[in-house]
Parts: sequence; structure tokens; C-alpha cells
Amino acid sequence: MSKRDYYEVLGVSKNASPEEIKKAYRQMAIKFHPDKNQGNKEAEEKFKEAAEAYEVLSDTNKKAKYDRFGHQAMGGGGGAGQHMNMDDIFSQFGDIFGDGSPFDSFFGGGGRRGGPKQRVGGNLRVKVKLTLQEIATGVTKQIKVTKQVSCKGCGGNGAKDKSSFNTCGTCGGAGQVRKVTQTFLGQMQTTSTCPTCNGEGNVVTNKCTSCRGSGRSEGEEVISVQIPAGVSEGMQLSMSGKGNAPERGGIPGDLIILIEEIEDPVLKRDGNNVVYDLFLNFADAALGTQVEIPTVTGKVKLKIDAGIQAGKMLRLKGKGLPEVNGPKSYAGDQLIHVNVWTPKKLSSEEKAMLEKLRGAENFEPKPEANERNFFDRMRDFFN
Ligand SMILES: [Zn+2]
Ligand SMILES: [Zn+2]
Repeated sequence: MSKRDYYEVLGVSKNASPEEIKKAYRQMAIKFHPDKNQGNKEAEEKFKEAAEAYEVLSDTNKKAKYDRFGHQAMGGGGGAGQHMNMDDIFSQFGDIFGDGSPFDSFFGGGGRRGGPKQRVGGNLRVKVKLTLQEIATGVTKQIKVTKQVSCKGCGGNGAKDKSSFNTCGTCGGAGQVRKVTQTFLGQMQTTSTCPTCNGEGNVVTNKCTSCRGSGRSEGEEVISVQIPAGVSEGMQLSMSGKGNAPERGGIPGDLIILIEEIEDPVLKRDGNNVVYDLFLNFADAALGTQVEIPTVTGKVKLKIDAGIQAGKMLRLKGKGLPEVNGPKSYAGDQLIHVNVWTPKKLSSEEKAMLEKLRGAENFEPKPEANERNFFDRMRDFFN
């Protein structure tokens, strides 16, 4: 399913202020709130969609990433909210509505809606170190993680056997109990977490011996992580459901992958461009030559014109790094900074040869206007 643009979801412009974003979300949340739209699947989807959009756009960091990379930045093509459940959404309301959430007073509690409590496991964080070459092409890494996995003995429910795992008699599996009271306004119904099962909807009479009832144990897993081309230091990718298993079943947390770049000895990254310092010997610079240049995707041959000057910048178009999930035309270039290497040691024979050349007419520096200063050269290069 392709996702709608978050700004479009909230009906605000890309330049909307945090206050405008909040206001827009507040209106959407009231309009599509499940209490006002009982059993309306479409309203529920809209409600979740708005919550997800707000979760990203209200966070400066996430918003910046989203503005730059779109939904892809939120990990794996899905959005930040694909694992947002109703509890998460309602817990957001504290910030949105302040203490006076209209749902507490108008709709009888902004808490969880029907059904037993869905547990969510903790997120797991790992670092992945990548070379520039791996970043250039994208790579699949096998990452071994130690994490909480569902207990094999009981399948995650924490019970010793089938007969020890039963639907809670107090709430009938709903995880909540209702109480009806008479007030001067009429009958009022309140719901609260079931005290017998703590909202889980089930009770375990005999605990599983291998996990002591927790339903999980520490284990290792090798996870195949697909890293798209063009990522950079500090970027985070998330894989939903690959984190820790929660106690006694539910949804596992996310695996958060933090990208680290291994510094390349000769290729320096500058955004999507890659900068390389080329050192030519004196004679090659004067006579012209062909050189081999390392790039992030292998070596390329480059012709050097006779009479090239130190300080000149050459460009290998498109040989830089791609934009994460961006079009090919967004790829950076490799910039080659030409240096002319001056010999630091000379034999007496070499000295004699150079002494002869020292006074030669052609050895007299005669820079042209565009070679005269660094800023002019830069301006020529970038125009
Ligand atoms: Zn177990
Ligand atoms: Zn119960």
C-alpha cells in the first residue's frame, strides 16, 4: 500500500509551523476519534494515518529526514506509525490536548479501546559499519543479534501446557471490566483494566519451566539487513518486528540500525560527492599522461592534458554516491583535485638537468586569468 504524503494527510503546507501541525492534528483526531465513529473502519484508518503523520512531523529530527527522503527515511518503506497501536496514539494525546483531553470528559476515558492489552517488545539497536564502496552500491548484511526471543518451551504464552493457559474468567478475555453506575445524568458506564489478568485476557495456572512464565528467553538470531545505497553516517534504519519479543506474546519491538561510515584512506566524502587528491609528477603534468583513478565503484582511466596546473579540479560525473532512494540523476560526482608533486630529493644529475630548465622561457610562470586565484577556479568549476 502506498502511503499518502504526511502533509497532505494533515492538510497543511510543507512550511506549516509546529503550532499549525499540532492544530491540524488535533482537529483530525477529534473528527476521526473511534469513540465518535464506532465500528467505522475508514475513520479508524484515517485516525491512525493522522497519528502517524503527526508522530513524524512533530519531531524535528524525523521531520527533517522525512522532508529529505520521504517515507523511505522512516525505514523499510513503511512509516513510523506502522507499528503504532491505539495505545501509542492515545498516549500522544497528553501533548496534544494538554491535561484537558476532550476524550476524557466527552467520551468517557481516553484510554485503551476494547480487547486485551497488546504487549510490545523493546527495540533493539545495532551499529553497522560500512565502507564507501558498500554505501555506493547498497549492501545486504547478516547481523547476529542477541535478543529476547519467544520461548520455545511454551511458544511464548508462558504456560506449562495447554490446560494451564485459560481465558480469564473475570473479564472473559476482554482484558477490561465494565461498571455501570447511576448518576444524576443517567447511566454511566466506565471500563477499567481487569484486576485478575492485568488486562491480558488470559490467566496462566502452571508456569512454563524453561522461561518461568515470562514467555521469552535470550537467544541469538542472524538478521539479514538490506541497506539501501547512499546512506550516511548517523542515519537510522528501522526494521519493524525484528527487536525483542515482549513478555507472554504480543508484537516484538523494532530493530534500529545505526549507520557508521568507515573512513576511506583516499576517497573523502562530501555529501554525495567524493573528493580525491591526485598527485602528478612534474613531468607528467607538463607532458600529459593517462592515470588510473580509484572511485567508489572501481578504477577508471583518466586522460590528463599536457600543461595541467596544480589546483585544477576535474569532475567524473555521476561517479559519486547515490541519493538514498532518489533518482539516478541525484547521484553525486567524483571531484579530482590536481596536485603537482615536487621532488623532495634530487640526484646531482637531476639537479643539473633542472638547473638548465630553470632559466628556460617556458618555465616562467604565466598564469591565465582563470588560473590566477583559487576562488576564480572554484567559481569556474561550479558554474
Ligand atoms: Zn516458556
Ligand atoms: Zn481478566
